[in-house]
Amino acid sequence: MRDDLRALEGYHSPQVEVRVRLNTNESPFPPPAAWRDALAAELSKVDWHRYPDRGAHALREGIAELHGVLPSQVFAANGSNEVLQTLLLTFAGPGRSVATFEPTYQLHGHIARLTGATVVEGERGAEFTLDPGELERVIAAAQPAVTFLCSPNNPTGLEEPEANVRLALSKVPGLLVVDEAYGQFAKWSALGLVEEETPMVVIRTFSKTWSMAAARLGYLVGPEWLVAELEKVTLPYHLDAAKQIAGRLALRFAGEMEARVQHIIAERERVSAGMARLPVDVFPSGANFVLFRPRGKAGKAVWQGLLEHSVLVRDCSSWPRLDDCLRITVGTPEENDEFLAALADVMAEVTG
Ligand code: PMP
Repeated sequence: MRDDLRALEGYHSPQVEVRVRLNTNESPFPPPAAWRDALAAELSKVDWHRYPDRGAHALREGIAELHGVLPSQVFAANGSNEVLQTLLLTFAGPGRSVATFEPTYQLHGHIARLTGATVVEGERGAEFTLDPGELERVIAAAQPAVTFLCSPNNPTGLEEPEANVRLALSKVPGLLVVDEAYGQFAKWSALGLVEEETPMVVIRTFSKTWSMAAARLGYLVGPEWLVAELEKVTLPYHLDAAKQIAGRLALRFAGEMEARVQHIIAERERVSAGMARLPVDVFPSGANFVLFRPRGKAGKAVWQGLLEHSVLVRDCSSWPRLDDCLRITVGTPEENDEFLAALADVMAEVTG
């Protein structure tokens, strides 16, 4: 095994059997029944003895139409995690540095390290906003081949202000990656800044809004030249036929998906307001999850108490910079009610 990998920890998200599972930022709703039917019908017609369309042309055309860009600006992969991996294999690697602003999505730094790159961690402020001075300082000092911004940021939920994305773009010596896995829940998107001469990509996924976490499908929108380079790096036929069909068909349901997004946003605001009535600090979210910190240094105890009520949330309480923080994914109205009731009970028990 490589010496540099020996000390690395893997990426874990415990899957515990519970009644209310609100820990991995999935959609609480299954995809529309009409999508399932259309998928079953098309799957029965697949030439399974043949390799799939290597360029995933129909899928990329559909995604391009959704965003008003060219199919040659779209790169699709097995979840946005594989998009991240392909980007980092292409642009990072030994002798290069990658900048992240912590706390943020752990896989940005993790995959960068797997490629042999050096990760330079910038720091967010106490409320998890990113000071423009820190952004400039890190980029100037590290001269990163890849700079990550995540908007809305996981696990904090905060949207990155457009001014910070523009500032980063004016300073980066390499590629700027804006991870918008939760972009549909936010007020603004960096997609409008994508241009052929701009060294930036925006990442999206079918795992959240599109209710298709099981399908493992994500993509980026970026300059055509960059997409062409990525196609050298990714494995041949990495996108199987079933996934290409699933994604293409999902795009027919854009209207229904948008309605679900609005519903989840309304629930997010209701859950945040409900939590704010308890002795917990709630961070503003532009995503489908909310970060919160029970007062009295009670993070771990509250996580455990919720689990005893069969409610599973993400335990971030021991993560660097996130002392005592927990993260709840917005669920169905019933799940959210169960969570709020359980949290009220647990806070009463824990804080006496
Ligand atoms: N980016 C961010 C910020 C995420 O939170 C996630 C999911 N945890 C991903 C990317 C990866 O999502 P997927 O591979 O399911 O598309």
